[in-house]
This record gives sequence, structure tokens and C-alpha cells, in this order.
Amino acid sequence: MGELRGRFAPSPSGRMHLGNLFSGLLAWLSVRAAGGVMVLRMEDLDPDRCKEEYAAQLADDLRWLGLDWDEGYGKGGSHGPYRQSERTELYAAAFHALEGRGLIYPCFCTRAERLAASAPHRSDGQAVYSGKCRYLTPEQREELAQTRRPAWRLEVPDREVDFLDGVQGFFAENLLRDCGDFILRRSDGVYAYQLAVVYDDGAMAINQVVRGRDLLDSTPRQLYLYGLLGLTPPEFYHVPLLVAPDGRRLSKRERDLDMGALRQRFTPAELTGLLGYWAGQLDRPEPVTPAELAGRFDWSKVPQTDITVEGEW
Ligand code: GLU
Repeated sequence: MGELRGRFAPSPSGRMHLGNLFSGLLAWLSVRAAGGVMVLRMEDLDPDRCKEEYAAQLADDLRWLGLDWDEGYGKGGSHGPYRQSERTELYAAAFHALEGRGLIYPCFCTRAERLAASAPHRSDGQAVYSGKCRYLTPEQREELAQTRRPAWRLEVPDREVDFLDGVQGFFAENLLRDCGDFILRRSDGVYAYQLAVVYDDGAMAINQVVRGRDLLDSTPRQLYLYGLLGLTPPEFYHVPLLVAPDGRRLSKRERDLDMGALRQRFTPAELTGLLGYWAGQLDRPEPVTPAELAGRFDWSKVPQTDITVEGEW
């Protein structure tokens, strides 16, 4: 591998949260430890949820902690634009190329129908789409299109895709059985995360992706898309999630763990020390700067399993 190019790709749909910051710090440490290039991309695909003010706040929160980036949001660079909301035409071109190859079909299922037409299951609790709309005739499609706007799905083969994750190790899924045909474009016209993230990481020449473990089982689908789009996939490092003592994932709804509250409660060095401790890089939570942590960053010390964040830290 040539120069390491990593990225942090948050969705500005609210104030950044402790869990996002943990992934962002690890992505940054890995890049800085290797003298690579850090990219900040705003995944603001969803116009209903994402706001520019959240993006600006997010950048400010990263800088507050001591994290910087070489390319991306607010900074520019040769692989821009770095806001997904400004990349719609690029996704459209990738989408139409796949469509032209007969790999995409319209899906008219409502949410309720989708659930009914799905095999229960998947580790993340999401349903696997049965492929119901794959088999509609052109006439049926035309008729349904009179009253409903379809979402668009990628047809996946009955094939196992595996990869070696830098933290989680070997991971494999059967595309048809474990994932099912998945949506590349929503019925409101918005391109889906799976398409945008693959297109962008490919186009931005990202060769290392560090992100939360919740996206581990999106990765086989994404690897399949890399192949279809003729893009080179990165190496993946899926880091543990921070969870509450009852096992729930910390979420943006917990306001006491968002950056607004955290910035009042901790100094940047204190917070970095905590995150570094949870990431296995420190024996105890002691104040440290991200730059100091980068000097001794070691992937082999990052735990695989989720990290319970107790109330009183
Ligand atoms: N935008 C996604 C999120 O904030 C992360 C996508 C990724 O890192 O692949 O959850």
C-alpha cells in the first residue's frame, strides 16, 4: 500500500456523540501514527435529518479535541466536494451505470409490505428482503408506477463474500441469504448510504476505513459494490461500540453524552485520556493529547468487543 489515506465520515444529523468521537479518534490515530492523509467527509445525504449547522459544529468539536484533517470539509482538496449533498450527480452516474447493466430493479413495497416480504433475522435485527419485486413483469411495474414511486434495489447473487477485518478478524456473509437485494436509491430520490459510501471512498482513494462495529455486516455488500463499480476496496477496521451498562448502544438521544455536555465536563486531554483508555491504548484514563496517543498507537490493543461506559467516569 502506498500512502495511507483514512477518513472520518460522520453524518451531521445532530450534535456529535461520544460514540462517534471514539470512532473518529481511532481513525485519526491510525492515520497519524502512519503519517498518512486524513480526510473529513460529511455524510449529509439525508436532507430531512442533516443540517449544515450540525456539520459546522462537528468540525468545531473535532478541533476542540485536537483532531485535524488534511482534506475535506471546510478545507477542500483534490478529491472533493467533501459533502455528500454536493455529490448527487456522481452517485446518479454510478447508479445509471449499474442500471444500464440490468442490475437494478424498482421496488414498490411499502414499509409494511417490505417487512411482510422479508425473512426475519440478521444479526443487526434488520430484515432480509425477499426479492418480491425482482420478479414483477414490465406490465406490473408500469401499473404500480402509476400510483407509487419506487425505491431501487440492487440484485445480489447467491454468493459468499468474505474479508479480513483489522479488528474483528475473518467475516463472511452470503449476499442473498444474509443481506438480500438492497436499496441504492430511496423512493424520494435520495441515494442510499451503501452506494454513496462505496463510491466516495473509492473516488477519494481511501485505503483504510475505520468505523463502528455496527457497520461490519454492511461490508460484504459494500465489497460487492466495489467490484461492480470497478473500485479498489480499502482495508477495514471495525471498532467496538460504546454501550450503556444495560447493553444498549449509546445514541444521539442521550444528551448528557453529546459534545455540548462533554465539553463542559472535561478538558480535551481528559476526554482523550478516557477514549484512549477504552481503546486499550492507556492503562488508566489520564490526560493525554491525541498527538501523544498517536505516537504509541497500537491496533493490536484495541478491543474487539463493545465497551461498557459506566455512569460515573
Ligand atoms: N456516516 C456513517 C455514520 O455516521 C458512517 C459511515 C462509514 O463510516 O462508513 O454512521
